[in-house]
Amino acid sequence: ASPGSPLIKVEKARKAFGGLVAVNDVSFEVPAGRIVGLIGPNGAGKSTTFNLITGIASLTSGSVYYQGEPLTGDSPRQIARHGIARTFQHAKILPEMTVLENVALGAHLRGSAGVFKSLLHAERAEEATLLTEAARQIERVGLGGYRDRLAGDLALGQIRIVEIARALAADPAVLLLDEPAAGLRHGEKQELSNLLKKLREEGVAILLVEHDMGFVMGLVDHLVVLDFGTLIAEGKPADVRQHPAVVAAYLGT
Ligand code: ADP
Ligand code: MG
Repeated sequence: ASPGSPLIKVEKARKAFGGLVAVNDVSFEVPAGRIVGLIGPNGAGKSTTFNLITGIASLTSGSVYYQGEPLTGDSPRQIARHGIARTFQHAKILPEMTVLENVALGAHLRGSAGVFKSLLHAERAEEATLLTEAARQIERVGLGGYRDRLAGDLALGQIRIVEIARALAADPAVLLLDEPAAGLRHGEKQELSNLLKKLREEGVAILLVEHDMGFVMGLVDHLVVLDFGTLIAEGKPADVRQHPAVVAAYLGT
């Protein structure tokens, strides 16, 4: 897809949990080669929006399109195979496995469960391909020196980058990151930010959920702000941060 053309289109997406409307008719797009930030206070509906896009949660109403095709009814595995990869808000890294093995799981998996078994039962030739692809992604994210280390021995900032490498191993056109900067130190946030800019230059579309407005400000091309499930503002980061509803949501006034 050429830069700027919409890869993901979320149209009036709605998710109700009983009486609670977690995502309230939200619409936005994620274009190729762009970073879109999805921000908002805790409980705003950011993770649920991710789950709607990746098929982990089903839409109450509305639609999600990928390159113009509706994803409605597709399983998380099918959606991952289309080229949409994600990380989770709470790390899913396997601490007793090496960085290489963790990333190889992603190469096989394309974002779903049952990988494990698949990797264990993979033919040797297939396994070699997975490991080669995993090694390539580890180089791509700048962790070449950590390939054979146990994932559990890495610093949090490096673990986050391993998770990104694992998502990249499925060769996605779109990367969805759920709070990748949470809990990171300043220097680690800087490195993460640089990596995401590099991936954008390579043409990857990124949807970035963040609680921390400071982190997304200097990074994203477009910002979408949710509050209590509702889209309250969107646009260029510098404009959005001035928006009275955004100021109110963040200051709690
Ligand atoms: P965010 O990621 O922005 O912090 P979430 O999308 O996790 O917010 O949650 C939005 C709202 O939906 C919250 O009020 C949360 O408690 C509720 N919620 C999320 N997942 C579920 C679920 N599986 N069942 C019931 N309520 C949920
Ligand atoms: Mg969340």
